Formats: sequence, C-alpha cells, structure tokens
Amino acid sequence: MDDFQLLIDLHLPAKRQGPGSPTETKRALELAGLRDAGPLKVADIGCGTGATSIALANELDVHITAVDLLPTFLETLNQRAEEAGVAGRITTLEASMDALPFEEEHFDVIWSEGAVYNMGFSAGVSELRRFLKPDGMLLVSEITWLTDVRPQALYEYWTQAYPEIDTASAKLAVLEDRGFSPVAYFVLPKHCWLEHYYEPMEQRFETFLEKYENSDVAKALVASEKQEIALYRKYCDYYSYGFYIARKI
Ligand code: SAM
Repeated sequence: MDDFQLLIDLHLPAKRQGPGSPTETKRALELAGLRDAGPLKVADIGCGTGATSIALANELDVHITAVDLLPTFLETLNQRAEEAGVAGRITTLEASMDALPFEEEHFDVIWSEGAVYNMGFSAGVSELRRFLKPDGMLLVSEITWLTDVRPQALYEYWTQAYPEIDTASAKLAVLEDRGFSPVAYFVLPKHCWLEHYYEPMEQRFETFLEKYENSDVAKALVASEKQEIALYRKYCDYYSYGFYIARKI
C-alpha cells in the first residue's frame, strides 16, 4: 500500500479530517444569518467524511452537495448521513475543487472547512466565487497566524507545509480583493484541534501501526502526525484556523 492510501486509512475512521467542531459550525451559520434563510442550496467543498454536511443538514433547511476528491470518504459520508437520518438532504459528488462541474451562480452558500488550502486560499476563493449566486455566502476555515511575530521553528514548519499561511488581516484583504465583503471572522478554539481532531487521531495510532505491522511507511506517517501535534501543543497561541464568512459582491 502506498503512502497516500495509508494516509487515507489513518483518517477514514475519524469523525472529521481537520480541526473544527459542531459548535463552531453552528456559530458560523448563525453569524452568516443562515438560520431562517432556507431553503438553501449549499456546497460543502472538501467535505471529508461529512462532519460539516451532516451538522448543516441537521440545523438548516438545505440541500447540500458534498464534494470531495476521495470516493472512500464519500462512501463513509453516505453511511453516516443514513445513520443520522439526513441522507435525503445530502448528495455526494466525487470531484476536484479546481474542476467543479457546476453551472455558475448555482449555490446560495459555499462552505469549506479546512480544505481550500488544497488549491491555495487566493485561487480557491476566486474559483468558488464563480459558483455563488449574487449575494451568496462563502464560509471557509483556513490556517491563520494569530500574532504578527512567531517562533522561527514554527514559521519554518508551516511556511514549508503551506506557503499561503498568513494573518487574518491578510486573508480578509484577499477576500476583499477577490470580490467578497467580509461579514465575520472568528478563531477556532483549542478544543477544535485537540478534542475533535488530534486526540482521536492519537488514539488510533497503535491499532494503525499494528494493522500495518509497524512498516517503515506507517511509522513515518505516525511520526509526522506526532510532530504536527507536538508543534500545536507547544505553539497553539500563535496559530489556529480562522473561520471567514464573506458575502459575494
Ligand atoms: N472538511 C472536512 C473536515 O473538516 O473534516 C475535511 C477536511 S480535510 C483537512 C481536507 C479534505 O479535502 C479531505 O477530505 C480531502 O480528501 C479533500 N481534498 C483534497 N484535495 C481536494 C481537491 N482537489 N478537491 C476536493 N477535495 C479535496
């Protein structure tokens, strides 16, 4: 099995594949004024196994198109949506966010938690804007520096992993430049990283390593996740995900 398949296998059993939580998803939909705005056509881009899509389907009068590159994530999303009783409100679609097969101005809301980085924030928000109706809302979470200065080791790690990591003011300026009016911004609290993402992952490491008989590839993957987690525990005051809510103009 190659590195990528192992990475999928480590993350497939998780409730979510990146930092976030149902509380913060709800907070974002309230800030965007979506509570009484239905019925809405929503896209969840880079939906993973469906934490956000299922939360939104439970909260709002919506139909959600849940898009991801990976069919195994979408299969799990479909099972979880059935179990949650919201399968009728969610349609899954295997597609890449840089080649979405939608008509322009199709959606009222485009949501994307922890996934726009796959295209890069600037290119990603520009691309997604095309598929929003006029006045449509974009809700994206994106890794963000929380301070203007930061330790060198942290700076080097994250700028190598994701060169577009930046401060909230820089991200808001990108949104303005790309045809959005920012409506709200908040920082994902620590429980979104620890309780909802890293700690459940840590609990899977042992079984994962046993399953792959402590192969070098499996050990390297776990070591790299452990490095990311240790860095977060040490430097979590310097970065988080920012949640950006903006209206298309
Ligand atoms: N939104 C989910 C969540 O918060 O749990 C998943 C976030 S995970 C960090 C990023 C997701 O983006 C993964 O499910 C991955 O398969 C998906 N992805 C990666 N590249 C993509 C692409 N080019 N188009 C669509 N989805 C992509």
